Amino acid sequence: MANRNEIESYLNAFLAVDRFKDYGPNGLQVEGRAEVRRVVSGVTASLALIDAAISDGADAVIVHHGLFWRGQDGRLTGWLGERVRRLMAQGLNLFAYHLPLDAHPDVGNNAQLGRRLGLLADARFGEQELGFSAPAGSNGTLAVLASRVQQALGGRMPLVLPGDGRALSRIGWCTGGAQGYFESAIAAGVDAFLTGEVSEPQAHLARETGVAFLACGHHATECFGAPALAAHVAERFGLEHRFIEIANPA
Ligand SMILES: [Zn+2]
Repeated sequence: MANRNEIESYLNAFLAVDRFKDYGPNGLQVEGRAEVRRVVSGVTASLALIDAAISDGADAVIVHHGLFWRGQDGRLTGWLGERVRRLMAQGLNLFAYHLPLDAHPDVGNNAQLGRRLGLLADARFGEQELGFSAPAGSNGTLAVLASRVQQALGGRMPLVLPGDGRALSRIGWCTGGAQGYFESAIAAGVDAFLTGEVSEPQAHLARETGVAFLACGHHATECFGAPALAAHVAERFGLEHRFIEIANPA
């Protein structure tokens, strides 16, 4: 059992939240009961996750995608009001960590995905150094890399834009919606770049620069950070923890 505020202070320091400019608030987003015994982690604070956490008897939820983002008008109505009402009615705390959780060198989404692909980052690139890059190691060809990704992400086949078919010596990656990092990955000298999503321009960039691009799923690439963080905090404070996967094909 631990106090909610102690957990928040610990997490904020552990993830160095003050170092990031983000699209929403990091830390405790919805305040519930003061004492926390059981934690549920998940990718996104969707209604399905909130309901599953309530059924699970959780006192706190730790997610990567919280409720509040730049550009919202601030009203707690409709679907957003329902999520907040459900949390508050149950006294459930909601902790959300976005970019600080992508970036963390151990429990972060990038570090955790890299580990599953046999990639150990030795350099960073892009805005706020969120892009990771590593020697390709045993992922020497695009076919090997693509099948390793598929294996690591529960059988989900990535969308592959093949580039010029070169052997891979360095691989760059950034989980989630980081297709906009493709150019800085190319500038950083990688032979292939992995992220969650793809947009129209990346197909042309892959053809014209010869650097391969793999879109592996936003949700799929970000499944590992929140449970790694929650497991860490559970261990630190002697809490119970369970990750709840809410499937998402996007
Ligand atoms: Zn994301």
